[in-house]
Amino acid sequence: MKKKHLAMILSKLRGFENPKAELEQYRTPGNVAAEMLWLAHSMGEIEGKTIADLGAGTGVLGIGACLLGADKVYAVERDIEALEIAGENAKSLGLEGCMEFIESDVSEFSIKVDTVVMNPPFGAQKPRADRPFLVKAFEVSDVVYSIHLAKEEVRRFIEAFVRDNGFKITHRKTVDFEIPAQFFFHRKKLERIKVDVYRFERLTVDGTPV
Ligand code: SAH
Repeated sequence: MKKKHLAMILSKLRGFENPKAELEQYRTPGNVAAEMLWLAHSMGEIEGKTIADLGAGTGVLGIGACLLGADKVYAVERDIEALEIAGENAKSLGLEGCMEFIESDVSEFSIKVDTVVMNPPFGAQKPRADRPFLVKAFEVSDVVYSIHLAKEEVRRFIEAFVRDNGFKITHRKTVDFEIPAQFFFHRKKLERIKVDVYRFERLTVDGTPV
């Protein structure tokens, strides 16, 4: 499969029916999801691996990981409505066997995995809403892929937070992220923002990766 093809499949999946502003339910656009998953795949961190998709929403990232040969994906999401759509999306591609759906707050998930993929809330509604996601990701995995706003203050926060938690940034790629006007407070038809796609890796005591 090519990256473009993956992006196309993911962009055709069903999105949020009833997006909840307080949960910041923006689905990851196909191009952004493919960017993250392709990097993870080229690092050998998808195929045959056990993966957690934290705040899985309608399942875009987890389903993409399954398409690229993940052994198993835990899709953790506290909104049951979103999780039902994720289930249907997985089924439409024959991937039910690869995905396990867990209706839970991310802070309660505790299974160790090889790789985390996530698109946490950007914190537009609740400042630092991405924090519990980062905390959990660093607890359950040595390798974490995540998406955050490409803004100076966010970058400074991420850099400090990652370092303070014994991780380092190995990759950061800035990409366009389109958000449809799904919430009343979006005035434009389509909001185009810039996000950073990151790869984080755990450090050992002497500063080298595990
Ligand atoms: N990963 C999906 C959705 C991203 S939107 C995608 O890439 O398309 C962020 C998701 O995190 C939403 O589905 C929201 O319901 C979920 N979420 C927000 N806070 C959460 C929490 N504390 N625990 C679990 N899920 C949460």
